[in-house]
Amino acid sequence: MDEKPKKSFPLYLQILLGMIAGILWGIYAPEFQEGAKVTVDYVKPFGTIFLRLLQMIAIPLILTSLISGIANLKDFAKVGRIGGKTILLFFCTAIIATFLGVTVAGFIKPGKVISEETRSQMISQYQEVTEKSISAFEKVQESPLSPLVEMIPPNFFGAASDNTRMLQVVFFGLLFGIALTRISSDKSATVVDFLEAVNEALLKMVMMIMAVAPVGVFALMASVLVELAGNGSQMVQLLYSLLWYAISVLIGLAIILFILYPAIFTFFSDVKYGQFFKGMRPAFLLAFTSSSSNATLPVTMERVEHHLKVPAEITGFVLPFGTTVNMDGTALYQSIAAVFIAQAFGLELTFFQQVTIVFTATLAAVGAAGIPGAGMITLIAVLKSTDIPIEGIALILAPDRILDMCRTLINVAGDAMAAVVVAGSEKSEENS
Ligand code: ASP
Repeated sequence: MDEKPKKSFPLYLQILLGMIAGILWGIYAPEFQEGAKVTVDYVKPFGTIFLRLLQMIAIPLILTSLISGIANLKDFAKVGRIGGKTILLFFCTAIIATFLGVTVAGFIKPGKVISEETRSQMISQYQEVTEKSISAFEKVQESPLSPLVEMIPPNFFGAASDNTRMLQVVFFGLLFGIALTRISSDKSATVVDFLEAVNEALLKMVMMIMAVAPVGVFALMASVLVELAGNGSQMVQLLYSLLWYAISVLIGLAIILFILYPAIFTFFSDVKYGQFFKGMRPAFLLAFTSSSSNATLPVTMERVEHHLKVPAEITGFVLPFGTTVNMDGTALYQSIAAVFIAQAFGLELTFFQQVTIVFTATLAAVGAAGIPGAGMITLIAVLKSTDIPIEGIALILAPDRILDMCRTLINVAGDAMAAVVVAGSEKSEENS
């Protein structure tokens, strides 16, 4: 995945080309007889194969980075410090994101343009999908302390065999890494050397897989568009009435990416934002096309470790942890969606309700998994806690996939930003 100097065509440009080709295919294929079917049957599987290749190495990559990184640490206060800084950064950016969401939506008022007729039309059209989302949400409703309980795997192999239980793997890795430092160094050295070699090989695998990223991204993009187009012209009409809502989300996301994060870099890091952005380009493109921070994680780790030179003990902890809990894009989207739905139903939100949206959207984003569409499910928690009608999610279904692509990019950027900032502050602490 290195942009080797010999190669005149850098990886991110290859991916970009794949994406553009996918967009063109996705737009024109449905015009041909069987075009959509051919895309779903013969193009889409290549996108799925590509994502599976990446998902295949996520768990071993997290484990080996984390264990070898922690085991090499001399100073244990560092583990707690890295954890503290990471959580603080995640929390602050999420609160800013949701606050920004409520402000942008309050300013643009996208929901005011939805007529009552359009609203009831959408609700009846998407009733089935809405019911499915609500029942999916009810399944994951938990007791207040269950997030804590959920961090501990009852069976390590069970956790490691399931990409959605990454935090449990992180917990095991942390404890195992610490335990390694407490046994005799002759013995631990063998394990650490072994894990370091495995980690290196896994990062090589990421590069090998990324060699086919242009094809994978082409297939993902083409199939997403063909499937969206399959929903017919009604969709276009809906998209039009939801244009202001979509624009509000995009403006908010752009503020995070182009103002908030660069400001954090300016104040808290030596790394230039341009350099960060350049290093992360392939991961951003992948996050955009896959709509999944989980699937992008191996690439995020490789980019942050190799190209932004963040040490393994930080990438191994901050990135998997961030992929699961840190979603600034989702937090912003949820707060805008909540305000939008309230406006569409003609509800005036009180100050207290707006503050509740800021806090519940921050938590609901933590609860969302790094997979496509997850943010829309946990949005239900935000709506419920503020008495906004939950059938209102029918209103935001139409453009959700496209907005999901954009918010996933921000989610991944936020994780990588945190890793770089925490690494920078650790370095300055060590030097002082
Ligand atoms: N797709 C997003 C992610 O993977 C989560 C969401 O639906 O907002 O980061």
